[in-house]
Amino acid sequence: MRVDVLTLFPGMFAGPLDESIIKRAREAGLLNLQIHNLRAYAHDRHKTVDDRPFGGGPGMLLKPEPLFEAIEDLAGETARVVLLSPSGRGFSQAVARELAGFEHLLLVTGHYEGFDERVRAELADDEISIGDYVLTNGALPAMVVIDAVTRLLPGALGDDQSALDESFSHDMLEFPQYTRPAEFRGLKVPEILLSGNHAEIARWRAEQARLRTTERRPDLLEQRKMSESDSAE
Ligand code: SAM
Repeated sequence: MRVDVLTLFPGMFAGPLDESIIKRAREAGLLNLQIHNLRAYAHDRHKTVDDRPFGGGPGMLLKPEPLFEAIEDLAGETARVVLLSPSGRGFSQAVARELAGFEHLLLVTGHYEGFDERVRAELADDEISIGDYVLTNGALPAMVVIDAVTRLLPGALGDDQSALDESFSHDMLEFPQYTRPAEFRGLKVPEILLSGNHAEIARWRAEQARLRTTERRPDLLEQRKMSESDSAE
């Protein structure tokens, strides 16, 4: 998959995307990540990319000209153009799965008060928020999206099954997990996990996932019920 990112802060991307699974996915050619500085598309001597909002109000907005030029240049015929914005639809594991199905994403990140509305209206295929809070710029949201999407690409995880059984995969949280030692400071691992009975272990895990989800995230179960009744219709 190719992912282009348009940002005013290319330096922020060094580090988080150069470690661990994402690093390996890049080295293996699963993720071709290209970071672009929006200022490269400004034409004046000061490399201006922002201006005051019409109608007044605090802060500055990203101007349309550099954004249009950059997006048209980088998206070509292939990219799905995704704006990162607090006004977007909520990011989730389901949205990450959806994005992982595209060959080419262009993630457009904002700064200041955000984008001139014409960028949204004319160029965006999608607009995503990573949560109901406001960050200073879109670099961290873009990295969140890249991380969540990359680990879903076939071959990115040591075992592709990992991405199928974890939290949110079936609108459920993950069941509790334990590793060696079987007893630590008097705390014992549930007997069933030591039994070797795979059918019973699977039943126990499913039940634990259901209990945990009911207790902590009943909204996920509601969502699941709704999508089951939608698909039954
Ligand atoms: N004035 C904007 C508003 O009220 O929606 C907030 C702009 S924010 C300070 C600057 C940029 O950070 C946004 O254009 C967006 O790219 C990014 N950003 C901030 N919070 C975000 C979030 N929760 N999800 C996605 N992007 C976010």
